[in-house]
Amino acid sequence: MQQSTDTAHSHGNDRQRNLQSIPKVDECLMALQQDTAESGVPAAVVKAAVREVLAEVRQAILAGREMASDSLRIGELLPRFRARIQHLQRPRLRRIINATGVIVHTNLGRSILPRTAMEAILEAGSRYSNLEFDLETGRRGSRYSLVEDLLCELTGAESALVVNNNAAAVLIVLETLASGREVIVSRGQLVEIGGSFRIPDVMARSGARLVEVGATNRTHLRDYENAITEETGLLLKVHCSNYRIIGFTSEVANEEMVALGRRFGLPVMEDLGSGCFVDLSRFGLMKEPTVQEVVASGVDVVTFSGDKLLGGPQAGIILGSRDLVDRIKKNPLNRALRIDKFTLAGLESILRLYRDPEKVMETIPTLAMIAAPTATVDRRARRLLRRLRKSGHDTCGFTLADTTARVGGGAMPEQNLPSRAVALTPTGLTVNRLEELLRHEEIPVIGRIEDDRFLLDMRTVADDEVVLLADILARVLAAEHG
Ligand SMILES: *Cc1c(COP(=O)(O)O)cnc(C)c1O
Repeated sequence: MQQSTDTAHSHGNDRQRNLQSIPKVDECLMALQQDTAESGVPAAVVKAAVREVLAEVRQAILAGREMASDSLRIGELLPRFRARIQHLQRPRLRRIINATGVIVHTNLGRSILPRTAMEAILEAGSRYSNLEFDLETGRRGSRYSLVEDLLCELTGAESALVVNNNAAAVLIVLETLASGREVIVSRGQLVEIGGSFRIPDVMARSGARLVEVGATNRTHLRDYENAITEETGLLLKVHCSNYRIIGFTSEVANEEMVALGRRFGLPVMEDLGSGCFVDLSRFGLMKEPTVQEVVASGVDVVTFSGDKLLGGPQAGIILGSRDLVDRIKKNPLNRALRIDKFTLAGLESILRLYRDPEKVMETIPTLAMIAAPTATVDRRARRLLRRLRKSGHDTCGFTLADTTARVGGGAMPEQNLPSRAVALTPTGLTVNRLEELLRHEEIPVIGRIEDDRFLLDMRTVADDEVVLLADILARVLAAEHG
């Protein structure tokens, strides 16, 4: 008893002594002065790094974790300060390598843009532009006019407007056409996308009242017709983008909806979600109506995202008849939801690429990844495999694996693309640990774990990333087995 009290007492003394020997912030800053002066790191960052590390040291001592007094010397702490400075200096939004095989991955930035679009964005951002200046008349112009003609030319629509994203597009259309009125939607189309976009919630915000019709799996034209009242403002169709009801189902064709709308003088809107200009069925995907086909079906308003299958920047594209789009343009919400000049520059550049439908499957990365033959993905996977085997890590197995990549992004949900992956089976560490290490790299590598293997799906890895990916893997495996 006596002895254990003594031990506790002496531990308390150690702790006190250790706390007192934590170096002062100013002393640490002095020690770091030379290397920070050379690197040009702002003083505030250095100070923050020192404070954070010292606070951690204090926490460790208080928590009774072993702390040799040597380790509290400034010289010993310097590497930790430097590492923390580096960490704080690193941008939060960073490039990663997407080896998930999900092409339009909302968490990983959806579509990546081709160089031509990025050059247009660079120029729009670093120089003055005619964003809202009409070069013909020398008077104030409209930012929307810059892409409106292109959108109409490509889709056959009468009029077009672009807003911040598709959720905003749905909101402003509903608010303009159906605020205070009823909107009829099929029960099977009340979608939730990524947990944050739910048609019923957006509708509530727009002031429109939702009227659900039909059963989850079947909705007939008469269901819509029976629900039409004096209060009805709009008939809405929502594309089932991230789920599909399979089996005994039926939806009403656009043409029938349009005829019904005309009969009652009601506009018909379709929220297409992903919206694609090219028929992807020739790449083994299911036939989905293209934007042009939806426009041709006669619906009055169509909305879709700019950064899903279109392969452009984040945007919400609204196509429709002139009178309706004019009303939407005049809605004050339009100002709140407007797109910025970078988006416009990127979008215009992407839309111009669609003027050459033969080349677009190569020039737009999102489409190129969908269209890539499995043989191409296979070659890429074999290149990575060869490099990894050459780097000679016998502590990890590398093999080829057949996988299924996905279009993703709430687009074509059950649509799988045959793909090829390099499968890693580490022996010296767990697959979960490997996943974590790769996620913490300077350029993080995101893959997926399946059957106790770490899979790098090569459909979403660019050709010019293979060497980089091999180097990162080699370094991580080498460090772990030191
Ligand atoms: C993705 C999606 C949206 C939301 O589009 P954002 O561009 O992400 O705002 C809305 N409706 C449908 C059907 C979608 O698939």
